[in-house]
Amino acid sequence: MKFGTKVIHSGLDTDPSTGAIITPIYQTSTYVQKKPGDNMGYEYSRTKNPTRSALENSIAVLENGKFGICYSSGMGAADAIIKLLKPNDAIICNKDIYGGTYRMFSQVFSNFDLKFKYIDLTNADNLTNSLTDQTKLIWIETPSNPLLEIIDIQKIKEMVQHREDIIVVVDNTFASPALQNPLDLGADIVLHSVTKYLAGHSDLIMGALITNNPSIYEKLFLITKSCGAVPGPMDSFLALRGIKTLDLRIKKHCENAAKINSFLSNLNMIDKIYWPGRETHKNHIIAKKQMRDFGGMMSFTLKNDSFEDAVTIISNTSLFKLAESLGGVESLISHPASMTHASIPKKEREKHNLSNSLIRISVGIENSDDLIDDLKQAFNKITKKG
Ligand SMILES: *Cc1c(COP(=O)(O)O)cnc(C)c1O
Repeated sequence: MKFGTKVIHSGLDTDPSTGAIITPIYQTSTYVQKKPGDNMGYEYSRTKNPTRSALENSIAVLENGKFGICYSSGMGAADAIIKLLKPNDAIICNKDIYGGTYRMFSQVFSNFDLKFKYIDLTNADNLTNSLTDQTKLIWIETPSNPLLEIIDIQKIKEMVQHREDIIVVVDNTFASPALQNPLDLGADIVLHSVTKYLAGHSDLIMGALITNNPSIYEKLFLITKSCGAVPGPMDSFLALRGIKTLDLRIKKHCENAAKINSFLSNLNMIDKIYWPGRETHKNHIIAKKQMRDFGGMMSFTLKNDSFEDAVTIISNTSLFKLAESLGGVESLISHPASMTHASIPKKEREKHNLSNSLIRISVGIENSDDLIDDLKQAFNKITKKG
């Protein structure tokens, strides 16, 4: 079945009690049992809820996975993965990762005797020197935030194929299952911030994990029902509704991003453009190999690398709303140096290529001419000023 059909039908059955075509919002905490243990598959909604189960089945199918579990946030999902580990285990991740993931690793889990090592995985060979007997987890985000770095998922998995004790996790939030399916490339667990492209309408917070490995699934299921970071039925319903248009939305996100890439490429004041669809992108070839298209996330810098000019631009767009987050139907713009990464000292930011003028956009599904006009008039504010 093709992806465009899966998003409409996968994981969803007609409601058995009424025939309702849409999965109802089972707004209930508990379920009546005939006798102790004699129930209809549901006992208590922390463990299982029918609206959530439909969503979990749907997301699993979209990622070509057997098992899906949903969480109250993307970070709740990430937290569950780390709880698979034991003290003294080591984790290797790419240097460029989502700030919230870095914060959880460095400020929360550093107290649990876990060793986090950040290396440049855009060249997979760098993994060799960092692997130790303690390594139990490899954490990949591709495309990464905010520099859209691309990591070769298949190559990384092949390099640790001989180590059955190592779990490869791919945060697939930026690509969404419409563009990339890491389980097919050998990943053991796929993570999504459902908040972003999957739900797609900037109206909820949710996470998901998908795996084909029954033993990993059983461990994650135990962690989840025990620790309890589960989403409610209303949010599960909204995510199910959002997913139906994922295929259509992503096509438009990609199409608009390609047009904005062309527009930016012809502007004098722009220095670097980070978007995996560019032939000059360091790992464009890998992106072409493992993604079906290049997505709606893009970052760029200004030739004068002026912090102030970047702030002027992001403060003067009107369709591109100045906000954190991404993956919704509306376009967003942000400036890592003054927003998401403001707490990192300037020197440290520069080491990670997060320059003063780096601007990140989440290209929405509005009309592309309007989006380009919006950027044009914001850029004009600095030309005029200069
Ligand atoms: C947003 C995001 C997360 C965290 O998800 P929440 O739903 O905000 O908890 C994790 N990874 C990436 C790449 C993200 O963009």
